[in-house]
Amino acid sequence: MIVLKSAREIDLMRRGGQILADVMEMLRGFVKPGLSTLEIDEEVEEFIVARGAKPAFKGYRGFPATVCISINEEIVHGIPSAHRRVKEGDIVGLDLGCIVEGYYADCAFTMPIGEIPARVQELLDVTRQSLDLAITQCRPGQRLSDISHAVQRHVEAHGFGVVRAFVGHGIGRNLHEDPQIPNFGEPGHGPQLKKGMVVAIEPMVTMGSYDVRILDDGWTAVTKDGSLAAHFEHTIAVTDNGPDVLTRRVAA
Ligand code: MG
Repeated sequence: MIVLKSAREIDLMRRGGQILADVMEMLRGFVKPGLSTLEIDEEVEEFIVARGAKPAFKGYRGFPATVCISINEEIVHGIPSAHRRVKEGDIVGLDLGCIVEGYYADCAFTMPIGEIPARVQELLDVTRQSLDLAITQCRPGQRLSDISHAVQRHVEAHGFGVVRAFVGHGIGRNLHEDPQIPNFGEPGHGPQLKKGMVVAIEPMVTMGSYDVRILDDGWTAVTKDGSLAAHFEHTIAVTDNGPDVLTRRVAA
């Protein structure tokens, strides 16, 4: 069942979303070669708590940390560790959520550490663009699979792969609500988008095959062929004026 949100509820989710936008901005300057993924996680947790919000992922189905940190061939759900250090040439996926007054917001981005090859930069750019294109579909009257199709079309036109095993989702009083939002599919199917729907759209894109494998830790999803992967995500409210991206910084 898709739960529609009131303007008041959307404003609460925006408060969380703006905290996440600030975290993403902070991380762009903070993440450097030599830093452990646990140090990154601790910094983010402190940041979220200092702003009066609660980390959304910590304890979720037993996930042990605030941020999912997924490096290179890791797609999503990487667990921060004192033994894993970021190094020059890595691409680092940072996925984080927070809760404000019982309402969730969720976002992710993938950042390069220092110099990366042009084709890897293209992987990041195309993944982010596919999210932007999907966001433009978040208007009343569009169908759910118009979002999915926008991602797939852009990604495949650039020769990259769209991960099938994980999907975007509705979000609100729960981190994961209906509907599920695949990143592939024909347009014009599924429920019609309505004012008050809030969705987390999150394309996961690979340089090679889109098949995934889960590591022995039970969480970390990697590409089966070892190719690099990127992940971007925003939380978006559908409004009569079009998409309202709650996790993008609103100019003060
Ligand atoms: Mg999500």
